[in-house]
Parts: sequence; C-alpha cells; structure tokens
Amino acid sequence: NTRVLTGITTSGTPHLGNYAGAIRPSIRASAQAGVDAFYFMADYHALIKCDDPQRIARSRLEIAATWIAAGLDTDKVTFYRQSDIPEIPELCWMLTCVTPKGLMNRAHAYKASVDQNQLKQLDPDDGITMGLFSYPVLMAADILMFNANKVPVGRDQIQHLEMTRDIAQRFNHLYGRGKDYFVLPEVQIEEEVATLPGLDGRKMSKSYDNTIPLFEGGAGAMRAAVMRIVTDSRQPGQPKDAEGSHLYTLYRAFATHEESARFRLDLEQGLGWGEAKELLYKRIEQDLAPMRAQYAELMARPDRIEDILQAGAVKARKLSSVFMSQLREAVGLRQPA
Ligand code: ATP
Repeated sequence: NTRVLTGITTSGTPHLGNYAGAIRPSIRASAQAGVDAFYFMADYHALIKCDDPQRIARSRLEIAATWIAAGLDTDKVTFYRQSDIPEIPELCWMLTCVTPKGLMNRAHAYKASVDQNQLKQLDPDDGITMGLFSYPVLMAADILMFNANKVPVGRDQIQHLEMTRDIAQRFNHLYGRGKDYFVLPEVQIEEEVATLPGLDGRKMSKSYDNTIPLFEGGAGAMRAAVMRIVTDSRQPGQPKDAEGSHLYTLYRAFATHEESARFRLDLEQGLGWGEAKELLYKRIEQDLAPMRAQYAELMARPDRIEDILQAGAVKARKLSSVFMSQLREAVGLRQPA
C-alpha cells in the first residue's frame, strides 16, 4: 500500500484554502483502494508561528472537527495530533544530529525572513527562532516517522521535501549498515489545486489573518467575508477580467468546469462584482452548508473529538513506538530490557 501523509498547522481557524487545497483532496485520496492515509494536526509546528495558547487550543479542536465534518473516515485513516506522538520530537532530535546546518541555511522560509530583516536593516537573525530555522527537520520527522511514500504539498514545500530526502539518506548511510531505515518520500504536486487568494489578495493563510473561515461564525460570517474580497473598480455593465480576479479563482475551486465557464462569461459580459460575490457565496454554501451542522455538533462535544483523536494516537503509536525502538538501537541508544 501507498502511505500518504499530510498535516494542517493548528495556528488558527481553518479556511477555504485549507479545505480546497488539503482537506477535500486528502479525503478523496484516502477513500482510494491501496492507500493508507496519515492525516494530522501539526500542533508542534503551530508553536513556531503562534504564541497564543488559547488560539492553538481552539485551532486544534476546530481543525479536527473540520476534517470529521468534511467526511473523513477516521476508522480507515490514521488521524492524530502530532503532539500525542512523543516519538516524533524524539526522532526530530536524532535527525537534527545528522542534518548539516548548511542545509538549513538554504531553506526558503528561513531565507525569506533573513531577507526581510536585511531590507529593514535589522540584524539578519532578528526575531528568528530555532523553531523557524530547523522546522524542515521537524517536518522530516513527521514524514519519516511513518515512512510515508507520498506527501501532497504546494509548490512552496518542494524544497522541504527534498531536504527530508537528504536527511533520510544521510541517516540510512550513517546507521543503515546495508539496511535502509527510511523510505525516500516523493512529493505529490497537486496540479489541479489552485492556491486560493485571501481577502487582501495574498495567499489565504491563517498567519495573515486574511482568511474566509470554513464554518466558524456560520453562513452569515461566510457571506460577510465573501463581500469583503478585494476587486477592481469596474462597474456593473463593464467587462471584467475573469482570469485576473480573485473571485473567479475562488469560484473555480468549488464549481464544475461548466459552472466556471458560465461565471467567467458572465464576468466578461459585465456582471457586477456585487452580484458575482452573491453567486460565489451561494456556490460555496451549496457544498459547505450540509457539513456545517455536523461541525457545530462536534464543536459542542469536544469529548467526542478527543475520543477520536485518542484512538488515532493509539493507532499511530503502534507503528511509531516499534519503529522508534529500532531507530534507538541503530544509533546505539538501546533501552535495557
Ligand atoms: P499557516 O499560516 O499556519 O502556515 P496556512 O493556513 O497557510 O497556515 P497550513 O496549515 O500551513 O496553511 O497548510 C495546510 C494545508 O492547507 C497545506 O496542504 C496547504 O497547501 C493548504 N493550504 C493552505 N493555504 C492554502 C491556500 N491559500 N490555497 C490552497 N491551499 C492552501
């Protein structure tokens, strides 16, 4: 079987981009025969970006409830919180010890922060934590812990996957003695899945506070957020550039090819932005409304979410605890019987 693994950072309320870019395709993939799916709440990763404990706690619940309300079969997949698997940070340390610092110096996320600092004429490392610097190693631990073969990611993550392969190869080479502990994971680029723009036109992202939340706040909040999407100043009756508009990108992420072609034509023929937003809102609601009730029920019963996550942790740890003892043995940290 092919092992597929993906995680969502618990740094805020899940949004349309998380749904269309990760949750929906992952649920479809997990239903296929021959696929063993590992889907997790990346709550250790969240600590890198967010130091608000309440926000993190709330986000863990919201993201778990979202996966379940969106139809994830939690019996079939392995569904867990990263922080419930103590073998992950343990492996992270082992990998840290074989990861060349120079490799991390080249990581995009770190380099982008350094560049920002230089632009602002600050110390290059200003505000950069070791968490941000070495986060590709934690990501490698997430993936290698379960020897995932396929990791669906956006283009910005390709480099981190290559780093995971480098780190895995290095560990295999140093400690394998003819045996490969780690499978080299492959990226799976979702060509079909667009990066959804947020309210301000940048990538929709929990960290930018520019998101359209999936379920939180109900249909009213969804409508209000859609009405706030930035558009150009063209008036009703004036032709609009569909390809260049955020509204069209969002619409396409939910509609069929035929519906999108119709929407595009309407825009090109002068549909007003206000009406276009109304259509977008209705199209999104058509998909989400049926899930929202279940989401609300789940959020009212955190104990039920907890039960599901505890069961997921047990399932995951059956694999991680056995594998971790082999890895301890490999590096010379065998535990006395
Ligand atoms: P953060 O700001 O904490 O990184 P995020 O909302 O940008 O959060 P992640 O939790 O890092 O997203 O990503 C979870 C998944 O959601 C990933 O598979 C990612 O590709 C997908 N995703 C996130 N944002 C978008 C977006 N705007 N469009 C499409 N997919 C997205």
